[in-house]
Amino acid sequence: MYDGTFKIILFGDPNVGKKSLTPRFLTNLFVSDQTMTIGVDFEVKSLTVDGQKVKLQIWDFGGEERFRFLLPTYVRGARGGLFIYDITNYSSLAHIDDWLSVIKKEIRAEDIFPIIVVGNKADLVEERKVSSANGIRIAKSRNVNGFIEISTKTGENVEKAFEALTRLMLSDTESIKVEVKSAVIVEIGLEQVKESVQRYLNQKSKTNKQITRASTIKTIKKSLKLAEKDKSWDEDIWSFAINLSKSIRIRTTPKTIYFQ
Ligand code: GDP
Ligand code: MG
Repeated sequence: MYDGTFKIILFGDPNVGKKSLTPRFLTNLFVSDQTMTIGVDFEVKSLTVDGQKVKLQIWDFGGEERFRFLLPTYVRGARGGLFIYDITNYSSLAHIDDWLSVIKKEIRAEDIFPIIVVGNKADLVEERKVSSANGIRIAKSRNVNGFIEISTKTGENVEKAFEALTRLMLSDTESIKVEVKSAVIVEIGLEQVKESVQRYLNQKSKTNKQITRASTIKTIKKSLKLAEKDKSWDEDIWSFAINLSKSIRIRTTPKTIYFQ
């Protein structure tokens, strides 16, 4: 049994090492001189992070201009991505905005979609054109969620990059999205609302029964659903929902983490 299945996408300029990354991660082998990537392909890998077992569906977009029409399909349904650039090629990092805008077109602003900037070919020390500091600076200024340098050739940090993204995606499942009156979509951090749900339930039932994570989600969903149905809502539930939406933190991106 898996705690989650996530579609993740690899994106970035041609020749940065996207195609080499997945086999490296899957089999720990570096395959050089791969044939040109055509269209879109994906691989599946299971990974255990912080005791949670997840299945990653890793999608590699070929990046060839003539396959651009496939981009929306490629991004759709993804939960996170690795933007790959080549540390020996400055323009592959400079194109980050083009790539991010392609993704933003497919991802709704309120969706949580962690992205880690990955500088590949870290083994090519002599040919380095982008310093780590510069990579980090650019990543930070684009408001992405992390930065890491890797080498698909030596395997350095490859697993760590996937683990970091997985950790971010898993942390997202610790919050839920709810729609209040179809207009506002808010992210609720579970820990934050557990307390108010507990208070609400205690008030209603006059007991001190400890609530679980699952019952928290259930209560929130139920109360907001009821609150949305104009006719049948219970005044208590509606005010609870309103108070809840006032007290919660609205998050648009997960906590930022950086790696060296
Ligand atoms: P893609 O076009 O982004 O899928 O990139 P590829 O995976 O096809 O890699 C492009 C070229 O860079 C190939 O010749 C790879 O062998 C080479 N390459 C990929 N990753 C590394 C790396 O970490 N170090 C070195 N030295 N070469 C790499
Ligand atoms: Mg290629």
